[in-house]
This record gives sequence, C-alpha cells and structure tokens, in this order.
Amino acid sequence: MRWIDLRSDTVTRPTEGMRRAMAAAVVGDDVYEEDPTVRQLEERVADLLGKEAGLFVASGTMGNLTALLTHAGRGDEVIVGHLAHTFLYEVGGSAGLGSIHTAVLQNTVEGTLPVAAIAEALRNPQDIHAPRTRLICLENTHNRCGGVVLDPAYVDTIARLAAEGGLAVHLDGARLFNAARALDLPPSRWSQAADSIMVCLSKGLGAPVGSVLCGSRDFIRSARRVRKMLGGGMRQAGILAAAGLYALDWNVARLDEDHRNACRLAKGIGEIAGLTSPQTSPPSTAWTNLVYFSIDPTAIESGAPDAARLASRLRERGVLATPIGKSGRELRMVTHLDIHAEDIDVALHALESAMKGT
Ligand SMILES: *Cc1c(COP(=O)(O)O)cnc(C)c1O
Repeated sequence: MRWIDLRSDTVTRPTEGMRRAMAAAVVGDDVYEEDPTVRQLEERVADLLGKEAGLFVASGTMGNLTALLTHAGRGDEVIVGHLAHTFLYEVGGSAGLGSIHTAVLQNTVEGTLPVAAIAEALRNPQDIHAPRTRLICLENTHNRCGGVVLDPAYVDTIARLAAEGGLAVHLDGARLFNAARALDLPPSRWSQAADSIMVCLSKGLGAPVGSVLCGSRDFIRSARRVRKMLGGGMRQAGILAAAGLYALDWNVARLDEDHRNACRLAKGIGEIAGLTSPQTSPPSTAWTNLVYFSIDPTAIESGAPDAARLASRLRERGVLATPIGKSGRELRMVTHLDIHAEDIDVALHALESAMKGT
C-alpha cells in the first residue's frame, strides 16, 4: 500500500534525477571553503534573495540558531511571535546555547506581529535595567498561522522600525519559495528589507537535507564561525548542496501544484460535517501548502472522534495527518512533491468516513 503522507512537506524522498545530481557533484572540503558545489549553491541562493552572501547549513533550525547567535549575545533580547517556529519548535536553542532572552509577542492570524506591539516592546537602550533589543524575527510563510504569506510591505515597515531603533530583522523563510510562487513575486521581495534570511531546501523543494542562511558578507563571515561552533562545518557537503541546486532548478515552479492541491483540500474539508478550516476563506494575502483544520466541539460531543482518534482512523485508511496542539481538536495536512491531485480525493473520502466511523 502507498501511504498518502500529509504530515509534512519534509517527508519527500529524493527522486532519481536528484540522486544522479548528488552522485555527480564535484566536491571539496567546505570547511576550507573549497567545495565548488556548496559555493555555487550559496551564491545562487544569495542572488535569488538579493543578499551578498549565503551559508549552507544542515537544517532550518541550525540556520535560525546561527542567525540568532550571530545577531545577539548573552543577555540580549530578541522579539519573536508566540506562534513562531523559532519559539515553539527549536528546543529553545537561542536560550540554551546563546543565553539570549526572548520577548514573545502575540501573532495575528496574518502571521504578523502588530507594529504597535513591537514599538511597545523595544527597550530603552539607556536604561540599565533593561536587556538590549537586538533583533526582530519574522516568519514567511507563517507555518503555525496556516502557511499564510506575509504582506511584503509589512516586512518593509518592520525593517524601517528596526533600523530606527538600531536593531536587525531576521526572516525565517523556511517556505519563502512558497510565498514567492503564491504572490508571483521574486523571493527577494521579502528578503530585501531583512538583514538575514533562512530558506529550507528540504521542505517543499524536496531536497533530503539543508538550508541556506543569507545576509551581508560581514554577517555571513561571522555566521560561518557560529556554524563551526555548532558543529555544522561539513566537509564534502557538495553532495548535499547538489540536491539543493537540483531542487532550485526543478521544484520551485511546481509549488503551484501543491498550492492548488492544498486549496482543494481545505475547501473539501470545509464541506465535511463536523470539520472547520479557517482556510476556506481567503486571507489578506494567500494560503500556500499547509492546511490546518479542527473538529467542531459539538461534533465531538455527539460522538465524532477527537484529533488523535481521527488521525489514527485516517492511518487505517492509508492517510497520514498530524494532530496539533493541546485542544485535542486541531490537525494539520501538508501538500508536497509526492502528493498528486487524485490523492486529495482519496484523503477527503478517508476524512469523511473517518469522521463517521464507517
Ligand atoms: C521546518 C521549519 C523550520 C526548521 O527547519 P528544520 O530543517 O526542520 O530544522 C524553521 N522554520 C519554519 C517555519 C519551519 O517550518
């Protein structure tokens, strides 16, 4: 049986073509900066994002952590959203390894942090009681806010606010290419205003490993030391970078298909009795490849399964989804390279029958 695995866009396996590109990669020792394939990937991503330099890292988590440790020191403060991946799912690395203090602001449903709330949170640098605010972190697309695309003008506004206060902006762009396809804008439209940006190659782009952190030449020079400190100095990493280059050649434009599939999935979910997805109505920008939905409390009262139960009934039907959070009512499904239009029909049928328990 073939699973319809909608848990995450990280579950894709490298295709034949990608594996051939990896096998053929010209490599060298990247700690000596002698791996031509890694350098090619770093330059290419930096170019796409309108930045001077790039740094290949093992994961999105390492990319964000490297950025935070480069921007902020012991006792410094970084502003993050309460639904940010960095805040929720990165093991508290900035505190654990960098002694960085976080100011956590409420995300809006658009994945933003309200400008007024940021202005309020900025510390007075003259006040000896206060930590120094060094950085504002934004996320695009915003994962936990439903894969919503940030309005690029919003990023510009935050960058202006940051510049006035003498601090920096880091963009967690794990799914930046999804945002770019969804609004039909170049990815640099969001990164141009940010001081640093991280993009993942192993999400919708389908590479097995890797992310790229980009910024100014000086920033990346410092980040390279941090990456080494974190144990992320890899040697013949061109084998992995080749997969990233292949993904940029072949797997960017096709993200449109993931977005179409996700849109149809969200609509279909909205038509199943007892299920609700906020993603059946259009946001101010766009939805992408993540679909969050919930089981209505009244449905659960009258015998519908809770999120964990629904996920296990789906599994019996060959469909994998992720229960989310503590409410016991929320789930997530993600479309990707290995999900085809027909799979959405199968998943919707499975959802309908799993809800009824038939
Ligand atoms: C997946 C993800 C990351 C982390 O990437 P890993 O490669 O899994 O470490 C960071 N930010 C966002 C928004 C993500 O979705």
